[in-house]
Order: sequence, then C-alpha cells, then structure tokens
Amino acid sequence: MRQQSINPKSPADLLAADRAHVWHPYSAMGGKLPVFPVASASGVRLRLEDGRELIDGMSSWWCAIHGYNHPEMNRALEAQIKLMAHVMFGGLTHRPAVELALKLVELTPAPLQSVFFADSGSVAVEVALKMAIQYWHAQGQPGKQRFLTIRNGYHGDTFGAMSVCDPVTGMHGLFSQVLTRQFFVDAPVCRFGEPCTDADTAPLERQLAQHRDEIAAVIMEPIVQGAGGMRFYSADYLRRTRELCDRYGVLLILDEIATGFGRTGKLFACEHAGVAPDILCIGKALTGGYMTLAATLTTETISGTISAGNPGLFMHGPTFMANPLACAAALASIRLLLESPWEARIAAIEMGLRTGLEPCRTLPQVADVRVLGAIGVVELKQPVDMAAIQPRFVEAGVWVRPFGRLVYLMPPFVIGREDLRTLTEAVRAVVAGS
Ligand SMILES: *Cc1c(COP(=O)(O)O)cnc(C)c1O
Repeated sequence: MRQQSINPKSPADLLAADRAHVWHPYSAMGGKLPVFPVASASGVRLRLEDGRELIDGMSSWWCAIHGYNHPEMNRALEAQIKLMAHVMFGGLTHRPAVELALKLVELTPAPLQSVFFADSGSVAVEVALKMAIQYWHAQGQPGKQRFLTIRNGYHGDTFGAMSVCDPVTGMHGLFSQVLTRQFFVDAPVCRFGEPCTDADTAPLERQLAQHRDEIAAVIMEPIVQGAGGMRFYSADYLRRTRELCDRYGVLLILDEIATGFGRTGKLFACEHAGVAPDILCIGKALTGGYMTLAATLTTETISGTISAGNPGLFMHGPTFMANPLACAAALASIRLLLESPWEARIAAIEMGLRTGLEPCRTLPQVADVRVLGAIGVVELKQPVDMAAIQPRFVEAGVWVRPFGRLVYLMPPFVIGREDLRTLTEAVRAVVAGS
C-alpha cells in the first residue's frame, strides 16, 4: 500500500517530511545534522520559513553572484519562458545558445573558439576529459587516455570527475574497482603572490616525462583549489604547468567552474597567470545561480581534429543541452556582471574580508587566514563540529556553511559593507566560541 502523502503545512511538518524522504548533498539520510527551510530569498538575504533572515555568505556555492531574486534576471527569464522553455539541441539551434556561445568565446582566452554546453559542472568536466581522449585518438595516439592532476583538487562527483579529485577527500578507496587510476602530484606549496621554482614543478615534470605516452591532459583548478581545500597557489606554478604541457605534448584542461566570472578578482583565474588552456570548463556563476548550466570550451584545432577524426563526431549529447532558459539566464547574468563595477566591488569585498577575518589569526583554534578576491578562508586546526556550529551561525543571522577544517565566506558581489561586516564578525565570534 502507498504511504499516505503528507501535506507539510508547518515548518515542523516540512522538516519531518524532509528528514523522512529527502537526501541532501554529502549527507546521511535521516541524519542528525540540522537543515533550515528557506521560504524565499532576495538580494543577499535568505528568508527562513519561520521568518528569520540570514545574510548569505556562500552565494549558494559560488553561484549567486548578483544575489537572489534580481529584477533583471527575472525579466530575462520571463521573456524567454514566453518564447520557449526548452527544445532539443540535436538538429535544432536557437538564439540564446548562439548568443551565449559568442559571448563566451569573446570573454575567455582567445584560442578557445568552440563551445559545448553541458548541464552541470561535473558533466562539463566529463566532456573535457572525453575531448582530450578523442583528440589524441584522432591524432593516432589512442594510448593517451589518462590524466595528471594535483592533490587537493575537486572536479565534481561523476566517475570521470571523481577520478581526478583528491584521492583522500574524494574517497577513491571506496570506488577503487571502478575509478580510473590517474596520476597525482602533491598540490603546490608556493602560495598565491609568491614565485615558484623548478623544485616546485619538478614532481609534475617527472610524471610528464615518464608517462607522456599515456597522459592525455593535465587537469587542474587555476589559482584557487575550491572544495578540495580552499587553497590559493602561485600564478607562476600555473605558467610553468602550461610550459611543461607544451614541452611534453600534453593538453591543459583548466576547471574554472568555481573561479570563473570574477570571483578571484579577474574574470577568469587563468588571467592571473596570463595563460590559456586547451580546454576550459565553466559553470556555477555562469547563470548567476538561477539555473544549472555549464560549458566546455576548446580550440579550433582540437574541435577540428576531433571532427575530422574517427568516428568524426564528439561522443556526448545531454538531453537538456543548451536549455534556452538556462542560456537566457547566463546571457542576462553576464550582461549584469559586465555592466556592473565588478572589479571595484570585488576589491572592496577583498578589503572587507581581510580586515574582518585577519583578527581570527590570533585565535588558538586557527591555523591560517587567507583572502583572495571575494573568497575569505579561516582554516582551523581541527575539523568543525557541524551539528554545533551550524545553528550558531544561523542564530548570528548569517548563512555560513563550513566543511572540514574550513570556515569560509564567498558572498554575492552585491553585498554592502555593513552586511559584509556582520558576516566576518559572525565568523570571528563563532570560531572564537568553538
Ligand atoms: C562545483 C565544481 C564542480 C562540479 O560542478 P557541479 O555543477 O556540482 O557538478 C567541478 N569543478 C569545480 C572546480 C567545482 O567547484
């Protein structure tokens, strides 16, 4: 017999139904960690079902750069939904996709000319890996099917993406029979703003020299390693990696899914190093947090080689590829971003994060404080107790979602000084009391 459906009227009913039936990201079903029901969101504020308002310090995981419920974003989506919400992309095309592709080609490094739309960041990474393999296959080098990356990386949760995530935090042991074994080197220790030396890139060069016939591409997050540890590394390291890839005949895939669209102070983080990848993944802030959409861009040489090779086509095609609503959201989000004083806003957020978080350094719980662009990280010596710490942030009127030993802020770009101060003060108070 079917269970009687519950009609969750009160916030308490809603939570009970959630606990009974809904799985959340990286969580146990029916787990003990609290979840907070959101009724609506506007600007930089999330409004809970019980009426409390929280200042958003997370941009919903790097995405909501313009805040929530933005009138111009809403208008763009309303206009598109009256035309069409979706059509298949096989054999059909449409204005939002073509215009978005042109915009992305214009904004990303010059060699990138061919755009593949995917439906999430993880899929964009799968597509990038497949592009690299198909390129070498078409070049008569079918043995180049593996990847080299740095530890502490995060590239998504599907099997290909997982295989290049940090082996420890990515739980490779759990999936050892099905995960492709890739090549890893330790993450760079040279920090952002510092130079790096031959010694820093020597492990990478050793792997390239030894396995160049097996390696299709190096894949990494440029400058900022996100969910794998929130580390900021030297632009020099990225420049040297580009040179090494060229020297050893290996492609370079840069995963800008977290860093793209201004977060680090440049439109794309690879600009800090002045390098262009052979394949670029973008997602997250692409639609300003409105819809799920990602893209993989590559050069004409690579797309041309794949298309001229055997089987003469690229072997991927999501059902919701280039969803018109998502493309319209992306176009509106990019327009909003570029018409805004985004560089000055990021600089002001960077300053506010530095001033507000730097005092945490003297707390005995704290191992490191680091800030880059609109990203502020307080690294603790011990992992946080999520069950205890999460409600304290909510009581302080902010939405901050730590993981492991990391308490971090990456607010929407439109946040004002006072709200930013409330966020950093909450982090300081909660960390001090933890
Ligand atoms: C979030 C993220 C992904 C995965 O994106 P999803 O949309 O969650 O699949 C991949 N790479 C990086 C760097 C990310 O931050």
